[in-house]
Amino acid sequence: MSDDVVHRSLVDIVGEDYASNRPEETFIYSVDSGTEGPRQVDYVVVPATVEQVQRVVLLANQHRVPITPMGANLTLNGLGLPARGGIVLDMKRMDRILELNRPRRYVVIEAGVTQGRLGSYLEKNCPDLEHSRPEAPPMATVVGNMVIRGHGYLSLRYGNNAHHVNGMEVVLPTGEACTIGAGCVSPWPFCKGPLPDLSGLFCGWNGTTGIITRLSLKLFPKRRILDVIGYTVKDAGMLPELLYQVTHTDMVDNLFVVGIASADGRSRQYVNASITGDLDEEIAYKKALLQRIAVESSGAGERQVRFVYPVPDMIRSRFVEKPPYVSPALAADFQKGGGYRYCGAILPVDKIPDAWAAGTRIASRQGLTFLPGVQILGYCHSCMFGFVYPFNRAEEETVERVRRAMRETNEAVLEMGGIPWKAETGAQARIVQRMQPSTHDLMERIWRAMDPNRIMNPGNWGK
Ligand SMILES: Cc1cc2nc3c(=O)[nH]c(=O)nc-3n(C[C@H](O)[C@H](O)[C@H](O)COP(=O)(O)OP(=O)(O)OC[C@H]3O[C@@H](n4cnc5c(N)ncnc54)[C@H](O)[C@@H]3O)c2cc1C
Repeated sequence: MSDDVVHRSLVDIVGEDYASNRPEETFIYSVDSGTEGPRQVDYVVVPATVEQVQRVVLLANQHRVPITPMGANLTLNGLGLPARGGIVLDMKRMDRILELNRPRRYVVIEAGVTQGRLGSYLEKNCPDLEHSRPEAPPMATVVGNMVIRGHGYLSLRYGNNAHHVNGMEVVLPTGEACTIGAGCVSPWPFCKGPLPDLSGLFCGWNGTTGIITRLSLKLFPKRRILDVIGYTVKDAGMLPELLYQVTHTDMVDNLFVVGIASADGRSRQYVNASITGDLDEEIAYKKALLQRIAVESSGAGERQVRFVYPVPDMIRSRFVEKPPYVSPALAADFQKGGGYRYCGAILPVDKIPDAWAAGTRIASRQGLTFLPGVQILGYCHSCMFGFVYPFNRAEEETVERVRRAMRETNEAVLEMGGIPWKAETGAQARIVQRMQPSTHDLMERIWRAMDPNRIMNPGNWGK
């Protein structure tokens, strides 16, 4: 038996098989598949119940040991890795789907439920409803994605995935379990209720304010037919107006801009729009309306915007998938060695042309390939511009160039007035430097009030 008192207490809480301080087991939690890390991990614990999570939190307070909650550790930017050592709290055993409520269109899940599990559960038990799945691998957790305010294939219509929260159960940094949303008053967690919106204390905070153990999530209508149409543009400067016109029709469910190779060997922008419906006539009507945009935006001479239908199979097959298979996933195979990083920048849509040019410049300076992929969020209210850089893991020199490209990209994004999304700790520090001091001071006061011993994932957001 270990003579480490924290380890012994963790074993007491969850049992021998689910707590470890052995280097060969903690090592796996010290790295992710991006270029961050390795980081120090002293203990790994895998709780099965809320009570066990509470006991781990009390123990961490007693010994002043940091805790980092972890879903699948798939951000690629090291957010599931501890910045200051301590305990990694792996949520995978808390994987029950607790309630599916079809008439009220919500589902209640535990924090370890993965995207793949929820997706297949809904397909089987409630095929006319769906949740907004990200393109992340199926083992990514729904809660981890919500915490980083991720986005899925319904984020054009319904906003990022943190907007789909009805409520949650959270273990606070001081160990109390607390219900957020209508469920704190009503028997049902069916909405946030006309209450102060406390879910904002946990979305976007990277686990620095507590551990989410349960989530009530909105579900949305799933239509029978999914088809795709596309546009090519003569130059990138035309994209913002085209995207505005397309979203203005209210006919589109998902909208991406990606680079495709054109006949002259250059990379051109291609806009892909998904349309859904229950009847073929509905799809035909939407298609006709969307085609008119291309006709109306064409000048007298050369076509400025071309409507693409049918979309070539090679592209279509990527976008009729749910979630679609866009550039980040392709990037891992782009170069031998299977690695890629991306800066997902949240930008105003009119900055897409500048961002495209900046990514091209940075990649060329660092001798890298640049694979852009842009997802429109809300009705053009913002976009996630993915600056994707593939690399070969075996070449440390290339990996270093990718790290440099990421730093340059983060700077360029901030200069454009955007904000790097799910930023690694270095980029978080740059964001905090630009933040109004009173805003960061408010964050600081919230941590002081909620987490007096500063055990919840310190080192993030300048905590
Ligand atoms: C190929 C690929 C494609 C991707 N595509 C998308 C995409 O389309 N959209 C998108 O949004 N993302 C995408 N991602 C990014 C990322 O993988 C996902 O957002 C993923 O859902 C994160 O979930 P996770 O379980 O890996 O979270 P983790 O990385 O484990 O955690 C993320 C953050 O949440 C915190 N956290 C985790 N669980 C809890 C909890 N229970 N309580 C409190 N804090 C917690 C962690 O401490 C960390 O700060 C992609 C990643 C890859 C590799």
